[in-house]
Amino acid sequence: PTLSNQIAAGEVIERPASVVKELVENSIDAKSSQVDINLKDAGVTMIQVLDNGMGIDEEDVPTAFLPHATSKILTVKDLFNVHSLGFRGEALASIAAVADVTLESATESGLGTIAHIVGGKMQNIEKAGSRKGTQITVRDLFFNTPARLKYVKSQATELGKIVDIVNRLALAHPEIAFSLRHQDKMVLKTAGHGDLQQTLAGIYGVATAKGMLSFQGEDDDFKISGYFSLPDTTRASRNYLSLMINGRYIKNYQLTKAIIAGYGSKLMVGRYPIAVVNIEMAPLLVDVNVHPTKQEVRLSKEDQLARLLTQTIKARLSSENL
Ligand code: ADP
Ligand code: MG
Repeated sequence: PTLSNQIAAGEVIERPASVVKELVENSIDAKSSQVDINLKDAGVTMIQVLDNGMGIDEEDVPTAFLPHATSKILTVKDLFNVHSLGFRGEALASIAAVADVTLESATESGLGTIAHIVGGKMQNIEKAGSRKGTQITVRDLFFNTPARLKYVKSQATELGKIVDIVNRLALAHPEIAFSLRHQDKMVLKTAGHGDLQQTLAGIYGVATAKGMLSFQGEDDDFKISGYFSLPDTTRASRNYLSLMINGRYIKNYQLTKAIIAGYGSKLMVGRYPIAVVNIEMAPLLVDVNVHPTKQEVRLSKEDQLARLLTQTIKARLSSENL
């Protein structure tokens, strides 16, 4: 791999969970209705993502692995109007630079391609009869970057980070059936019927999902909806708070605080609710182009959105006499 390739890889691919995130986001962008993830050794030995999406055309397979090759943005103007999860065209190149990658993809069933890339070098590419969709298998992550491998933590920690990311992607896409297996054991499975509460049940359990309140709110700029737990069903970590803006999972400290503020003194110090908050707004009000992993976003009118969140949750709780 070229130096610049490895530097880019360092920015995007920190650990197995980053690979899972990028591959699953690609499957979502490809309009898949089913995404199956298989892991060996918390992803260090193998990460496999299988989808039934639109697939990659034979002639586009070699380019898909080049840095800055994206099919999703055509003009600079598009950068300010991003509707897909990916748009930088760095993920596949970055992953292939630091692992052994096999891609099998077909746009129509029977018209497929298999490519094998190791450490950024194309080893082999050939036609293959495959079902429609894409399967990417990433083996021996960081085999050629031992320094990076040293930063990978225990299997429990790395698996926890993967589960966290898959949970959030699944919650952002109730219309997609997700499964996650580790060492051939099912870790999570969602129905994919488009119902958010059913997806919550697949992730946090039926009892927890049934105990949550649905909410909706809007003002001139924002529409919010989702589910949140009652003040007596809380967790010791804010990992159970999932914020989505226009279908993209984001992190935002002020908005998280605004949700917690909606509970007022009903929430014990150090406890956090379980919540899924979908926010819809004009894409022009969000700048997703801030950080390579795209989780931190910059918002215009953040204070206004924070107020809407706090007030909506407060009002919903008091409508239940809570
Ligand atoms: P980006 O998502 O930013 O465009 P990536 O490096 O993640 O860049 O992917 C490069 C390109 O490969 C994508 O633009 C897309 O055309 C294609 N691609 C990757 N994964 C898939 C997939 N699962 N299904 C269909 N096309 C895919
Ligand atoms: Mg991508």
